[in-house]
Amino acid sequence: MDNLNTTSSMPSVCPVCHQSVLPQYYFCPNCGAKLNIAPLSTTLKTQVWIYFLSIILPIFCFLFIGKWPGNKYLKSNDPKAKEIGWFAWALLIISTIVTYWLIYIWTKNAVQSAQNSLNADFGI
Ligand SMILES: [Zn+2]
Repeated sequence: MDNLNTTSSMPSVCPVCHQSVLPQYYFCPNCGAKLNIAPLSTTLKTQVWIYFLSIILPIFCFLFIGKWPGNKYLKSNDPKAKEIGWFAWALLIISTIVTYWLIYIWTKNAVQSAQNSLNADFGI
């Protein structure tokens, strides 16, 4: 009898609104809270795509860094070109800060939701 409880790792009650839900639901039909993480596709096609992206993405970034003319403009004697160089540098720095900030927020949310789902497993 107790086996029934231990084998079901998925919550049968929404951790947010405490409405009863079916174990196979990924989202609560009442409040829309995330109940389970949708299973990731592991087909050969997906694997090839992921590996392809993993190879191509760093190369792509490297090619664009090489093409970035900010430094060339900054070192220019033409004051207008120098101005463009400074502006390009400012944009690059702001964009980098924003990217790291977004990664920080995303990581924090991911950790938070992992903790929440752990709490849900123990029951509220
Ligand atoms: Zn709910």
